[in-house]
Amino acid sequence: MPIYEYVCLDCQKEFEVLRPMSQADQPLPCESCGGKNVRRKLTVFYAHSDGRSVAGTTAPACGSCAGGTCSTCGH
Ligand SMILES: [Zn+2]
Repeated sequence: MPIYEYVCLDCQKEFEVLRPMSQADQPLPCESCGGKNVRRKLTVFYAHSDGRSVAGTTAPACGSCAGGTCSTCGH
């Protein structure tokens, strides 16, 4: 059973809940204040998938150089 991360918009409390995938988006009360403004956070799984999609952008490959003088990335 996967663990999901949630954050309470009322008290900013973050907590993890072990629940079936089919219930991941169902509302649940905040474990700290009991409020109902709880949102599910994106999991680590999604964060890792971002790596490839930004490869084709104009962002520099090396964050420490402006181009031409960097021995790390060859700009
Ligand atoms: Zn709360």
